[in-house]
Amino acid sequence: LLARGTLPRAWVALWREDAERAALRDVDGTWLSRGDLLGRSEQTARRLAGAGLRRGDRVLLSGGPSADLVVAHVAALRLGLVVVPVNDAYTPRELQVLLEDSGARGAVLGSAPMREQAAAAGLPVVAGVDVDLPDGPEVRLDVAGPDDPALLPYTSGTTGRPKGALLTHANILASVEALLLAWRWSEDDRLVLALPLFHMHGLGVGVHGTLAAGASAVLLPRFDPEDVLTEAADATMFFGVPTMYSRLVEAPGAERLASLRLCVSGSAPLSATLHARIADRCGQRVLERYGMTETVMLVSNPYDGERRPGTVGIPLPGVELRLAPGTSEIEVRGPNVFGGYDARPEANATSFTPDGWFRTGDVGAVDDAGHVAIVGRAKELIISGGYNVYPREIEDLIRAQPGVRDVAVVGTPSEEWGEVVTAVVEAPPDVDADAVVAAVAADLVAYKRPRLVRRVDALPRNAMGKVVRAAIDTTG
Ligand code: ATP
Ligand code: MG
Repeated sequence: LLARGTLPRAWVALWREDAERAALRDVDGTWLSRGDLLGRSEQTARRLAGAGLRRGDRVLLSGGPSADLVVAHVAALRLGLVVVPVNDAYTPRELQVLLEDSGARGAVLGSAPMREQAAAAGLPVVAGVDVDLPDGPEVRLDVAGPDDPALLPYTSGTTGRPKGALLTHANILASVEALLLAWRWSEDDRLVLALPLFHMHGLGVGVHGTLAAGASAVLLPRFDPEDVLTEAADATMFFGVPTMYSRLVEAPGAERLASLRLCVSGSAPLSATLHARIADRCGQRVLERYGMTETVMLVSNPYDGERRPGTVGIPLPGVELRLAPGTSEIEVRGPNVFGGYDARPEANATSFTPDGWFRTGDVGAVDDAGHVAIVGRAKELIISGGYNVYPREIEDLIRAQPGVRDVAVVGTPSEEWGEVVTAVVEAPPDVDADAVVAAVAADLVAYKRPRLVRRVDALPRNAMGKVVRAAIDTTG
């Protein structure tokens, strides 16, 4: 794979070799073969070129999951464009930030109002996801080199304004290569893909990995536990975020997950409790992995060895990981790690160490066997009465209590303590949140015990199911 230099070249080599093989099932049930992907991506690339887009140009790409969206993505990469994946649920305000920030010259957008907005912003090329533009002339494809930029994804904005992370073809190829090896991803695999295709999880790993392995994927229009369990019968893999797994374990027929050879969780912490429940109810030892927009994938539980609940495993081949002295912030280096944020000199100045390691913003721990645990994000640190408190440890304990669906532990400003540890418990109205929190107090030193407790029906979440702490109302 690496010898091919870029992902599009690796894909095209596979597609030319065996054009008949099934590659992608669209949301309406139709199958695209490898040959379809080859031919359709070529045609779409010619259309984009005919409309005036050139190698190095940036293009926004957004839409619900569909084969058209995948074809447009592949076509853009084959033409040497830089793809900016955009959440299709973004509001006009959120889209405007990306229109202004990304320097895009083109946009392929599923939503008509988004297309109008992009055109009004002055983008020279705006098309729907089927890229129904006039056919262009012959163009040279697969010209981009390993060090050319390929993707400009924005971080989830969990801790602030989203930042565009410029990833080269070599960055993405390195990560995909490592995953193929680590997860034994082969031609015979079929992935059930119910993740959004504007994020590293669904796009950077799900789509890129499937195509590079010569495997196949079944695209689902949205996550629905029953659909996933139905598709599991003919598939081998499923990738999800923890909130998906918590719904899967509750669904009728949850045990059908057992037929898959690999279930992966990532994007947010998977609690040991949920890991155990999936093992119980579904007969699956979920493999947890850790990565981020800026690096694609970094760490994964071993495929064969022990998958320790509460840890994300060992660094993937090629990835170097260390903990910063004093803070234990995870720092990484490797061919998969991006070169920097786009047009954010201040962020770049603070995000890398003087010797060139990327500061992830996550705090970690490494055990004797080299297994990495994510303690929490540096920005989530609560300082109460001078003591450092990381929410995750407390959250894991509360989440294990009966009736609790989820919980977020945050700091509430306090004159006396600086911050007060506050637990916001997501649970049905009949759950007594105070009692739930009191039940874990004995397992926590006094300064870690939540002093304020609140119950909510639902915590605020972003499109990846991550709790957005800044949006939590701790009063009320
Ligand atoms: P922003 O950087 O804009 O605040 P974000 O960090 O959530 O948003 P992403 O790049 O989508 O944006 O997410 C990467 C982050 O998700 C990681 O830095 C880490 O905090 C978290 N994460 C990913 N996988 C795991 C995991 N298995 N366990 C715990 N946390 C994880
Ligand atoms: Mg981040």
